[in-house]
Order: sequence, then C-alpha cells, then structure tokens
Amino acid sequence: MLLKTFTLGGVHPEENKVSSASPIRRIPLPKSVVVPLAQHIGAPAEALVAKGDKVKTGQLIARGQSFISANVHAPVSGTVTKIDDFTDSSGYRKRSVQIETQGDEWIEEVDLSETFHGEITLSREEIIARIRESGIVGMGGATFPTHVKMMVPDGKKAECLIINGVECEPYLTSDHRLMLEHGDELMTGTRILMKALGVEKAFIGIENNKSDAINRLTELSKKYQGITVTPLKVKYPQGGEKQLIKAILGREVPSGKLPIETGCVVQNVGTAVAVYEAVQKNKPLVERVVTVTGKSLKNPCNLLVRIGTPVSVLLEEAGGVPADTRKIINGGPMMGKALNSLEVPVVKGMSGIVVMPETEAGRKKVNNCIRCARCTFACPMGLAPYLIAQMAEASMEERAETERVMDCIECGSCAYTCPSGRPLLDNIRVAKSKVGQLIRSRAK
Ligand code: SF4
Ligand code: SF4
Repeated sequence: MLLKTFTLGGVHPEENKVSSASPIRRIPLPKSVVVPLAQHIGAPAEALVAKGDKVKTGQLIARGQSFISANVHAPVSGTVTKIDDFTDSSGYRKRSVQIETQGDEWIEEVDLSETFHGEITLSREEIIARIRESGIVGMGGATFPTHVKMMVPDGKKAECLIINGVECEPYLTSDHRLMLEHGDELMTGTRILMKALGVEKAFIGIENNKSDAINRLTELSKKYQGITVTPLKVKYPQGGEKQLIKAILGREVPSGKLPIETGCVVQNVGTAVAVYEAVQKNKPLVERVVTVTGKSLKNPCNLLVRIGTPVSVLLEEAGGVPADTRKIINGGPMMGKALNSLEVPVVKGMSGIVVMPETEAGRKKVNNCIRCARCTFACPMGLAPYLIAQMAEASMEERAETERVMDCIECGSCAYTCPSGRPLLDNIRVAKSKVGQLIRSRAK
C-alpha cells in the first residue's frame, strides 16, 4: 500500500521510541504541586483562591477571563500554601498556585467510576461550554485553548476533523500508549468533537511505525460512524498541523492562515481523550500522560501524573537521573527545550521528558555555511533557513519577515540536516520573536 505523507521537505531522525512497550502507569501523588496560571497560549487565568484556602481535587482555582485563556483546576486536595512566581519549564518565572497535598478528595460532580460512557447526550453548545469549563488545551504541546479552536469563525465552514496521532518526535510515546490503552475514550472524544464542529467525517492520522495502534483503532472504528484511521509514511515533522492536513487531505494551508481555511480542525489524541473525560465524566484537566525516556534511563516509561508535579518526581519514577546525563529536555529532541531545573512542574502541554546522555546531546562544531542547500530541501515550509538565520544574526527583521520567518514551525529539520552545525533553529527563533514584536508594534 502506498502510504500518504506531506510533500515538501522533512527528515528521518532516529526514532528511539524506547518507552513504547511501557503501559501507562499512575504515580503516587507528590507532597505538593505548583500549578502555573498560564499553561496555555493566551492571557493567564486569574486566581480564585488565596493562601490558606482548602481545595478539593478538580476545584476551579483560576478562571480564564479573556477570550483566549483557559481555566485551571486543583490537581490534588489540600491547602494553598503560596501564590507567587515560580520558574516553569520555559525557564521564566510565572504566577502559580502552590498546594500542599492532603489526600485526594475530589469535587462531587466528577464521575470517578471506571464505567465507560459511550452515549453523547450534550448539545453542541453544551459540549463547547464543558470543554471551556474543564480547562482543556491542545495537549500535543501547542496549548491553544480547545474551546476557542472549536468555534469556527464567521464565514468559514468546518468539513472534517483530523485527530493527530502522528507523534513524530523521536522518543515520545504518550500518544501511542493512549491510542493502545484508551481507544474507546479516544473514539468517543472524537465523536464529541465531531458533534461540536457539526462535521460527519474525522480522520485519525497515525504513522506506520505504530502498526499496533493503527490495527487497534481501525478495528474500533467499525463501531464509530464517520471515523477513518489513516496510516501515514514515517516522516518528521508530520505532526505539524499543516503537514498533517497536506498528508491526509492533500490541501495546503495558505501562508499566515489557520487550518480552518482548508475546512478542517486538527486536535491531538491526548486532547480528544481529555474531551471524553470532560464531557462524559465531568472531569477537568488535572492530569496527563508524560513519557519519561532516554537511552541511559533505567526505566523509560509513560506516567499518568497530576499537573504541578515536579519533574524530579517523574525522573525518580524512571529510575533516577543517569550519571552520563548531559541535558534534560522538555518535549522531544527536535522541538523541545532544555530544562534548567528539575523542580519545574508538569503542565498541560508537557508530553515528554527526554534525558540525553553526553554522547547524544553534544552540539556539532559550528563551521561556515557552505551553501549546500540541505536546510532548504529539509524545510517543510519551503523557507530558506540559512538566509533567515543570517538575517537574524544581522538584525534584519524586516527582510526576515519578507522571507516568511513567521511561517517557520520551529521543527528543527534545518538544523538537524546542516553539515556545518549552524545554529539555524536558535537564530530563527530569535528572528521570529523580533518580527513578532515588530508586527505587534505596527498593530498599536
Ligand atoms: S525550523 Fe523553521 S526554517 Fe527550519 S526547517 Fe523547520 S520550519 Fe523550516
Ligand atoms: S545546510 Fe547548513 S551549510 Fe548547508 S546551506 Fe544550510 S546553513 Fe548552509
């Protein structure tokens, strides 16, 4: 069978899915949690609790006030000990609520039973309201509030939903395990999202290095109307929304536009499962599956953890930090960012922690650009990375904008492929940030 994929650029990094056979395991509650009020794209939520307050698991502790924002709930029961700025996985200090854990007493509204609920009774409007109330954001790492993504702008029409089960980043396996272990919840979450969008068709895109998940979901799809599992050729960064739409539907999202321009909305596997839990079980987003992995780790694993748990606790569960560790990354090795502290909390968009040994984490020696154009061939957005990186170094923001730097999806394919070890992604990120400032200053 000829497998679908996107056409422009892409690379084939070593997969290293060393935790793929490890079933999802719930870990004990941490002694305390730190819950950032900004775990999503958009305005931070506003705290509704104060120091000394008692909270229950699932209780709303911060409300998203603006259109693009998301609610935040207590991931444990206990006492609020501090509301202060804490360092998060980005390395910046962000307003957060610290809760000392005292048991796990949930709010009464949540259905904590093991019973599976397949029948969807809420209306379209009620589904979107429940998703909003539950604080669900894109769990593949994008963290865009899901309820906002589900509101199709006036003049646009959604024709289909795409569920992103690609997980193309090396090492990460949390979505793979969710597809294998929570197939019915994923399928029902997909049907709920289809109802909210008013579409009859959904595609679940999965790369064919996860044939067990493809088989499992293809079998399940026979009892869920309108859902098709689409096996895809393995190619990075197929998990990018634009690349996935191209691979499945053959449609191009125009420069600077959103996927809805092509008539579809893309949601991640983890998001669809969270939607199932919110809509069918009334459970807010207070926990997620995190892959903790690396070739030197004693026990690479997929852990179900409460939001706010320190990363150090996850690493202990995986057997501790190996002696040969050079850096620890939040996310995969292609797009992730190195952590500067192991005490930062798990947040809604944290899909994996990758421990890189000395032998893998070292950077190549930087040499001059030899104009080989490999970065240009690798770029899935059709950019000229060597040129944009040079413009970044020369502070030529307006030229970089003309060269469509804002279309860069920060996939790292250019840097991965460069024989001269040029820090292309680092420079392009700087350029994006400066051009973003320029665009915002013009809008004032
Ligand atoms: S990081 Fe940006 S410039 Fe580099 S390959 Fe990816 S999309 Fe292209
Ligand atoms: S891949 Fe590296 S050396 Fe080749 S053109 Fe791009 S930046 Fe230059």
